[in-house]
Amino acid sequence: MTATQTLTGRTALVTGSTSGIGLAIARLLGVAGANVVMNGLGSAENVESAITEVRSVAHGKITFNAADMRNPADIASMIECAETEFGQVDILVNNAGIQHVAPVEDFPAERWDDIIAINLSSVFHAVRCALPAMKRAGWGRIINIASAHALVASPYKSAYVSAKHGVAGLTKTVALEAAAGGVTVNAIAPGFVDTPLVSLQLDNVARAHSVSRDQAFEEVVLASQPTGRLIGVDEIAALALYLCDDAAASITGAVLPIDGAWTAK
Ligand code: NAD
Repeated sequence: MTATQTLTGRTALVTGSTSGIGLAIARLLGVAGANVVMNGLGSAENVESAITEVRSVAHGKITFNAADMRNPADIASMIECAETEFGQVDILVNNAGIQHVAPVEDFPAERWDDIIAINLSSVFHAVRCALPAMKRAGWGRIINIASAHALVASPYKSAYVSAKHGVAGLTKTVALEAAAGGVTVNAIAPGFVDTPLVSLQLDNVARAHSVSRDQAFEEVVLASQPTGRLIGVDEIAALALYLCDDAAASITGAVLPIDGAWTAK
């Protein structure tokens, strides 16, 4: 999708934008003219390569903040830095996320804590810090990257499903609180998207069941997603960009599936 520079003068902060969906969203919002604050973990080389990729197509200024989304103080400081540098955060995309798959009775407690912290609590902390300036400005966009697992469950994903259902609830609640102030709050609920997070899951399933990666793909993806293919990261980014448009001003409090009919079943 090509984007006209409709976001010139706006500033977007995209958590977890060194990879996958977050990187695609940072890239497209940058192409659309926004300044973008990127964030994420990873080796210095990977982080640098993600920043270079976004800078090579962006029209606004691109910066990076290494906040660990498990840490509320890091999150508050990241929003404060962005507001100091750019005046305010107009668009907040809460995207950072991790996954762990195990039966609930074997689920490592520290993995539960990390998933709830990164996939759910970080959304609360970022929203509570960024919303006041959006309300003062009378314009803002909060886009939470949830999951089909915000709407339905799968076995062995207790922490992820709980966190993503929580994101859906938080999205609706904040949308109601912000509705009169020009700030929209929505969640995008993707099915299986072609990113490292899914690739790792396919590797794990193939190893655990001693099957090929193709068989793992059939068991994990085809069984859930009637379209029978992984979703592209650019498909998710395109919806995020649309939600930033003034034409989307009345879409708020929505949990919007892009899931190849997974949750239609
Ligand atoms: P990914 O692994 O490619 O990227 C995850 C990003 O989050 C990376 O930039 C990583 O550095 C960052 N991150 C992880 N832990 C962090 C931490 N503690 N602090 C800061 N950043 C951290 O994953 P993805 O598939 O692009 O997933 C992005 C989001 O989309 C997640 O919230 C995920 O749950 C959601 N999602 C993904 C899929 C899918 O099929 N890939 C489907 C539905 C929802």
